[in-house]
Amino acid sequence: MPEKSENKKIKNLKQKLLYEKKNVCETLTDEEIREADAFCEGYKAFLDRGKTEREACAEAVKIAKKAGFSAFEYGKKYKAGDKVFLNNRDKALIAAIIGKNGVRGGANIVAAHIDSPRIDLKQNPVFEDGELAFLKTHYYGGIKKYQWTAIPLALHGVIVKSDGKTVTVSVGENEKEPVFSVTDLLPHLAEAQYKRPANQLIKGEELNILIGSRPLRDGGDSGGVKLGIMKVLHDKYGITERDFASAELEAVPAFKARDVGFDRSIVGAYGQDDRVCSYTALTAITGVAAAPERTAVCVLADKEEIGSYGNTSLGSRMLENFMSDLADAEKITARRAVSLSKCLSADVSAAFDPTFPDVSEKQNAAYMNCGVVMAKFFGSRGKAGTNDAGAEYVAEIRRLFDENGVLWQTAELGKVDAGGAGTVALFISNMGADTIDVGVPVLSMHSPFELAAKTDIHMAYKAFGAFCTALR
Ligand code: MN
Ligand code: MN
Repeated sequence: MPEKSENKKIKNLKQKLLYEKKNVCETLTDEEIREADAFCEGYKAFLDRGKTEREACAEAVKIAKKAGFSAFEYGKKYKAGDKVFLNNRDKALIAAIIGKNGVRGGANIVAAHIDSPRIDLKQNPVFEDGELAFLKTHYYGGIKKYQWTAIPLALHGVIVKSDGKTVTVSVGENEKEPVFSVTDLLPHLAEAQYKRPANQLIKGEELNILIGSRPLRDGGDSGGVKLGIMKVLHDKYGITERDFASAELEAVPAFKARDVGFDRSIVGAYGQDDRVCSYTALTAITGVAAAPERTAVCVLADKEEIGSYGNTSLGSRMLENFMSDLADAEKITARRAVSLSKCLSADVSAAFDPTFPDVSEKQNAAYMNCGVVMAKFFGSRGKAGTNDAGAEYVAEIRRLFDENGVLWQTAELGKVDAGGAGTVALFISNMGADTIDVGVPVLSMHSPFELAAKTDIHMAYKAFGAFCTALR
């Protein structure tokens, strides 16, 4: 027998019997890759305009309105194809398209989060020391604190004065505006600092943001740097130091989203966890043309990075209440609508990093450019604290993706005992809905500059689109 035909037979068998992850760039057409690149231009603009949960929520509302969605009204009779959104305190959003069957047989829910790790200001933040003025901070979410020093930071958020008037703050995004920065020690004097464990290389109380250095001058008298800064803030925003008590000010990296690599194949930006799934889920649902069979719901939640606590998070009744409002209109119980629902918990996954291979188990790691990640479970130390999707539901989603040209890979977060993480999946599955984690693999997660491959981003969009329209 000639050697060649035997090789072919083995090749065919391999293809048939083995699961090998493939770089989708080898499968996609030139046109499909161009499509992915073009899609990411809109994504980058979204990232630049929405650097906080409030800004991302405002952008999402704009996108929804443009696509014909209108504010949800309780008690109003909606019909198939109607498009509604519910803005939860300007920090979280639910958008929905009413399906032909309403929520009678459950809804298809894609849930992502629009908050990202960052540095929040304390409520009494301003201080002066060493002829410099600073802001005291309390970081938000899991950050490697040392990554946030010595980079340009922008300040975003709101200051709500005691009379209820809101001042919106955004400083540092426009090139003409100043930026801020957390100082770090010069290496020459870092001998003692180097001996600290890495998670204390910069301590929480050392994340002080430099905001000025010139004392207030009044003729020959000096009022100090802090007073000088408070004068600037009073002139610009009409605020006094007490107003910080009712402010939400967030320091985020001041740089914009960029293409990364000579081939421009990767998006590098702050806040891709989880605005990458937020944008792809939202554009997928707002792109749905005709009424789907089942009502399609897209949730963009807040507070995921601190454990989904509070009334803008998915740990709250926010989604359940909305489902209940829809169910009321159809005269069915909410618990029935929710328990028959199906959900993609849309969040990022850790991409395999060849520089740090030890934390991954290669066979069950996610790889860049290998498609959306399906994670049956996350959790840590023995699947603790995770949703673990049922095999039947995984099969259903797998089939949906295969039938709709969605290239996917299965993965978990890292080696079994390496650490772990959670997503919003368990909150929704605890409500009774079938839920699985699906998302985009990301490098340098939770850093000021996260990386995601353009083909994976576009594949997430396709996955969420198929889920909204084709899952029965
Ligand atoms: Mn996330
Ligand atoms: Mn995260």
